[in-house]
Amino acid sequence: MSQTVEADVVVIGGGIAGLWLFRTLNTLGYRTLLLEQDSLGGGQTIKSQGIVHGGTKYTLTGQLTNASQAIAGMPERWRNALAGKGEERDPDLRSARILSEYHYLWSPGDIGSRMTSFFASKALRGRVDALTKEQFPAIFKHNGFRGKVYQLNEIVLDIATVTQALVNGLKDKTIKVDWSEQGNARLNKDSQGNIDSIELTEANGENVLLKASRYVLASGEGTEALLNTWGINDPKMQVRPLQMVMVRHDHPEPIYAHCLGTTPLPRITVTSHPDNDGKWVWYLGGGIAEDGVKQSAEALIATAKKEMKALLPWVDLDQAEWDTLRVNRAEPKQNRLLRPDAAFCQPVANGIVTWPTKLALAPNLSDEVIRLLQEDNIRPAGDENFSIPEGFSRPEICPNFWQGHFEEGKAS
Ligand SMILES: Cc1cc2nc3c(=O)[nH]c(=O)nc-3n(C[C@H](O)[C@H](O)[C@H](O)COP(=O)(O)OP(=O)(O)OC[C@H]3O[C@@H](n4cnc5c(N)ncnc54)[C@H](O)[C@@H]3O)c2cc1C
Repeated sequence: MSQTVEADVVVIGGGIAGLWLFRTLNTLGYRTLLLEQDSLGGGQTIKSQGIVHGGTKYTLTGQLTNASQAIAGMPERWRNALAGKGEERDPDLRSARILSEYHYLWSPGDIGSRMTSFFASKALRGRVDALTKEQFPAIFKHNGFRGKVYQLNEIVLDIATVTQALVNGLKDKTIKVDWSEQGNARLNKDSQGNIDSIELTEANGENVLLKASRYVLASGEGTEALLNTWGINDPKMQVRPLQMVMVRHDHPEPIYAHCLGTTPLPRITVTSHPDNDGKWVWYLGGGIAEDGVKQSAEALIATAKKEMKALLPWVDLDQAEWDTLRVNRAEPKQNRLLRPDAAFCQPVANGIVTWPTKLALAPNLSDEVIRLLQEDNIRPAGDENFSIPEGFSRPEICPNFWQGHFEEGKAS
């Protein structure tokens, strides 16, 4: 027996992009389901550093100007949602954990007058504040530190708790899917190049035909395979690999900061994440993770040890445990330099293909999808009884991957 379920929107992929959109569409009364093939928030999202960028990092590269735009508004948008005072459609993220109210920029020594005057410039006023020694975060209040510290209006989040807050109360509208040949999900196309339906098989073997006005592809790196299955050639995806470094240790002070180097890309970006036993896991990205792609894990760890000794010599990491994590950033393929100031959303037949390009831009992606729905006159059906049959398994929420990582001996 086959049953048809009519939805307004089906979101495919439960990373930050899909989750924020899913929550917002439900709030607006759109009949929306979320399909996830693995765990919720478990892709790039959980592997991110959790920084809600406001674009300052990109002003350093000259990629953004004062006039830019979507990303500059993101920190305030998130702050409001985290305080439960967001726009009506925005999620209430009060239960999510803020790791740091601010992210910082530090220069290890004298970075020269160009940078100093740049930070004092009008373009960055209100976004970057130079701190006096008394205002430094504890990690930099050490006699051995000679550099400058700037405070950015960028919050740092514990991502697993954000995922939890976004899914709260909506779990029965999520479905775990498996697109493999023996799996429970199949994408059906029609002759016009539209997605006709998604055929889902329940645990008891019954079929459900899921039909939606719009299918939103928010599957991160998995979007390419979905586009291939659907037979769509444009847009195309690209991946940019990173090898991140994790270090677990006993130093009591956390650090949330980009270290300025000689190039516009931060030399290193460090965020700190609490482990199960109260230790910190410092997560190192930025230039070191980009350059580290070509290195073996052992070689990169050796580089990271040297960097940390050079940059934060008063922090004793001799007894620390180290590991690396390889991960790709998935983005639309673009010939020109990718402008990281807005999310990517492209309508394709009865679908919308999306990549946020930044965790911070999830609200912007959601706005853009809603604008596209409204443009096509797709209105919320507002059906409070909208539900799907119960016989499906639901995707789990992905825990923070460093939690238990070292105790369980997963580190190399
Ligand atoms: C190491 C690293 C650090 C970063 N740090 C930051 C940061 O500090 N701040 C910031 O703003 N951005 C950061 N980013 C970028 C940010 O993480 C990503 O832009 C963002 O998380 C992408 O979200 P997403 O929802 O598009 O993708 P993902 O988080 O990858 O989610 C995609 C989801 O879709 C699912 N999926 C895939 N294929 C299918 C399918 N066929 N069917 C169903 N489900 C499917 C996956 O299982 C996954 O759950 C970082 C990225 C990396 C890699």
